[in-house]
Amino acid sequence: MKKSQRFVIWICSKFTRKEIEQIIQGLLDVLKNRNPDIKPKDDFKEKHPNYRNFFVDPKAPLTSPPELQQTLNYKELLKNYIHLHGKPLSPVKSRSSKTRVSKKSTCTRCGAPAKYLYFNDGKKRSQLMCKICSNLFSVHPRNKIDTKYFCPHCGYSLYLWKHRQEVSIYKCGNDNCPAYLSSKSTLNAKEKLLAKFKSSQFKLRYHFREYHFTNEQLSLSAPQKVSTILNIRKSLNTLCLALTFHVSLGLSARKTAFVLKNVFSIPASYQTVLNYTKMAASHAHKFNLHYKGDVDDTQAGDETYIKIKGKRFYVFFFISSVLKKIASYHIASSRETLPAVIAMQEAIRTAKPYQKVKLISDGNPSYPAGIHFINQLRIKFKELKKTLT
Ligand SMILES: [Zn+2]
Ligand SMILES: [Zn+2]
Repeated sequence: MKKSQRFVIWICSKFTRKEIEQIIQGLLDVLKNRNPDIKPKDDFKEKHPNYRNFFVDPKAPLTSPPELQQTLNYKELLKNYIHLHGKPLSPVKSRSSKTRVSKKSTCTRCGAPAKYLYFNDGKKRSQLMCKICSNLFSVHPRNKIDTKYFCPHCGYSLYLWKHRQEVSIYKCGNDNCPAYLSSKSTLNAKEKLLAKFKSSQFKLRYHFREYHFTNEQLSLSAPQKVSTILNIRKSLNTLCLALTFHVSLGLSARKTAFVLKNVFSIPASYQTVLNYTKMAASHAHKFNLHYKGDVDDTQAGDETYIKIKGKRFYVFFFISSVLKKIASYHIASSRETLPAVIAMQEAIRTAKPYQKVKLISDGNPSYPAGIHFINQLRIKFKELKKTLT
């Protein structure tokens, strides 16, 4: 007898008809994905744990080749030259584009930029000479490619792998990269076989995602402003009662209207309660943004889903670890990097400028991807000067 058949018999021996109906309903909810917290066991995933396993590399890429540690400083040498010769040293004049050195090349000894370097070996163009310190060195393969980023594990130049409007993905192509070799060694026998046919489904190499979010995209979600609360016909006391029952105590708008009418003798329709709540929401949101007060250095982030008019949305939160204040909240239609960035930026903005903010999150890869983006932005936005760890 099959395992599932034995299980049916076991269920029938333990549960009543009504309970079995409830179990069936619960299982149908899981199969139709109405209960996103529970998922059926994935046999394939268990056998291939690294298959389509998306994660973000926590290390940011290097922005210059790693081993360019100079022993001399070209700026100092240029100053000395003026001192000695009474005029500045002129850069190299290259007559043709063929002899022009790549902009990414720098002198390995004094750090002189490309304009002070020239090829020293004729047509081969594999050796460079520095006009400032007379250093002779070979052209590094990395400097032949006009690249922005370098792998933090092996120093190899990252190539642009995918480009979309929102993100450019750079990848390390070095077959001897320690990160690549280490992730390759974690594959089990079945995965190694699968990787031969579907190598794109395994993330083995170092990736860096460069996001191109605009300032408009990065704005915090806010309730729609309807009309000012000062225009209401009833007193502010009535407004407060309506909000206390409907928002603080969670009573429905109809029940709130019922309480107002039958307990406080204030005639108000459920629509009035809803209108008041809408009006108060934008005021409360503005107040929250300005008066959050102090928050702790450590803040924990998470997201949960809510239904708005039948559609699924996600609320991103950051909560202060000791003071238990909500440092940030943002509503979005996805769980991707953009809303995570917005929620993290708001959490950082809420902290004091001198605070060293530490953000702790769950396994959602949107957060580490967002941290790379925020760290790049920190140079541009003064309010994000706090250190992220
Ligand atoms: Zn030099
Ligand atoms: Zn690498």
